[in-house]
Amino acid sequence: MLGGYMGKMLWVHLDTGAIEEQTVSEALQHDFIGGYGIGARLLYDHVPATADALSPENVLGFMTGPLTGTMTPTGTRWTVVCKSPLTDGWGDANGSGFFAVALKRAGYDGIFFTGVAPRPVYLYLEDGKAELRDASALWGWDCYQVEDWVKETLGRDVEAACIGPAGEKLVRIAGIVHHKGRVAARSGVGAVMGAKRLKLVAARGNLTIPVADPEGMRQLYKKYAGQIKSGVGFSNFYRKTGTPGYTSIGAVNGDSPVRNWRDSVAHFQGAENLEFEELLKYRVQRKACWHCPIACWGTCQLEYAGRPFEAHQPEYETGAAFGPLLMNSYYPSIIAANDLCNRYGLDTISAGSCIAFAFECYEAGVIGPGDTDGLELRWGNHTAMNQLLEKIARREGIGDFLAEGVQRATERLGAAARPFAIHIGGQELPMHDPRYEPAMGVIYRMDATPGRHTQACQFIVPPGYASDRPGFGEEPHKQAGRGHWVKEALCLHHVSSTAGLCLFGYLSMMVTALPEFISATWGHPFTLQDMMITGERIANVRQAFNVRAGINPLTWSIPERAYGIPALPDGPTAGIRVQIEQMTQEFLRDMGWTADTAVPRPEVLRRLGLDDIARDLWH
Ligand code: SF4
Repeated sequence: MLGGYMGKMLWVHLDTGAIEEQTVSEALQHDFIGGYGIGARLLYDHVPATADALSPENVLGFMTGPLTGTMTPTGTRWTVVCKSPLTDGWGDANGSGFFAVALKRAGYDGIFFTGVAPRPVYLYLEDGKAELRDASALWGWDCYQVEDWVKETLGRDVEAACIGPAGEKLVRIAGIVHHKGRVAARSGVGAVMGAKRLKLVAARGNLTIPVADPEGMRQLYKKYAGQIKSGVGFSNFYRKTGTPGYTSIGAVNGDSPVRNWRDSVAHFQGAENLEFEELLKYRVQRKACWHCPIACWGTCQLEYAGRPFEAHQPEYETGAAFGPLLMNSYYPSIIAANDLCNRYGLDTISAGSCIAFAFECYEAGVIGPGDTDGLELRWGNHTAMNQLLEKIARREGIGDFLAEGVQRATERLGAAARPFAIHIGGQELPMHDPRYEPAMGVIYRMDATPGRHTQACQFIVPPGYASDRPGFGEEPHKQAGRGHWVKEALCLHHVSSTAGLCLFGYLSMMVTALPEFISATWGHPFTLQDMMITGERIANVRQAFNVRAGINPLTWSIPERAYGIPALPDGPTAGIRVQIEQMTQEFLRDMGWTADTAVPRPEVLRRLGLDDIARDLWH
């Protein structure tokens, strides 16, 4: 067995309560690393192609990576995998904090849940032992109540990931929440957990994570933690402000979508109200995930609408989704929205997008005051924004069909609502505009989890990586050839993510950090070239999962306004139209996927050792 793994995974069969241990083979570790790499390989075999995402046939997995809990700076990520109830295809999401390390130290590299429990349950893990316990008394509680209960009842050293009322009510934009604000948010993973009647996973761990070369790891830590402290890559940005430092910048440079993607930033008043210094007025503590030298997040204390509360500070995505997207620049209301999402267990990107969709439907008369229980869904009305958010989380009134996500809500409202539904394949778009960085348009369409900004590392070149790739947002009118860079960006990032590294750490150390830490952890050489091949293998398994589910991303409608159809008349991205078909074909050629169906060709699958999948897709 390679170093960095506990060597065991669990299969928890919720229908019967049976718990099985699975040993992890070295081949699986070597070829798929961990996280959604191993997750995709296993779910390809275990989830039937026709399974409904909210049915007992779906499998929900919690995975760690080999670097999780080692001396690798920012090795803190836990990844949730399943079939997505938003896209009906491959789904994954990841969060940071302390949970992944506790899960691993409890003795497990990953946990997979099958079936549906007859009553609400939770899984408790401790030092190689696992027990399913009754969670009926916790059903209906919000994520803060669950977190407090875990610490008071199970112990201060127990870490947990849970769903709130949104996941319980099968809200398709629900996430899974740890530590009151470290959230695996996307792909609707919280709804899948709710469908399984699984309220939380809790872990206490004291076991040692074996690494092959402990002294080598100590030396690497010294070298790369030193790089983080000396300002390599984006480390100064993440250390000084974290992503909220970009909230006002994105609202000026054209990266943040405005008024449900309809207008340019020239029409958004109040970007200065979203500057980091404004957030600092409410921040009470800067915080870090497990042993992280970056410490990019923090907590705020304030009062909004007569309600005093303490909450995690909103990341850039949240600030943009409840800010410029809704023509809102009142920071306390954005922090309050973040707080509500974390309490109820909602994805902030999708929640802001559903509300923007509703605001535009209201403006166009597709829905009226009679549909909204009197809420005035007008741009900039942050009171209505937060009230509607609660309705979505509780599936009350109009919130019931918005809880289905914008794609399904549009099916209910009809053709008049279609131009306002900004999603790809059912997943609401994140807050980076393809008119600002056109390659994001390809990533949003062609990754197996569509509409994701973190995939392909947001097209950012990792520090020290020799590449002619244009910088993020650089010369967006020069689009020919940009699609060729997406494969490289995607494959490198798949390894970072599946190894358990935080994206912010990946961008704050030289690119050599990842293969060097993996080599020392594994006790087996792993090079940059290996990163490309392994990342490509992972990309192909995820894509194969979608192909077998009947998904062809080339048939998805593109949300036209987000791709510059028509182009914006003003602002920094005026006149930009994303050449999506040209860049998509560049990407497909490089990947060796078919030009009209995006199916991986058999020779590509065989080169990557995926012969069984080649037989499945090309029989
Ligand atoms: S960079 Fe931020 S999110 Fe990433 S591990 Fe460190 S503190 Fe957590």
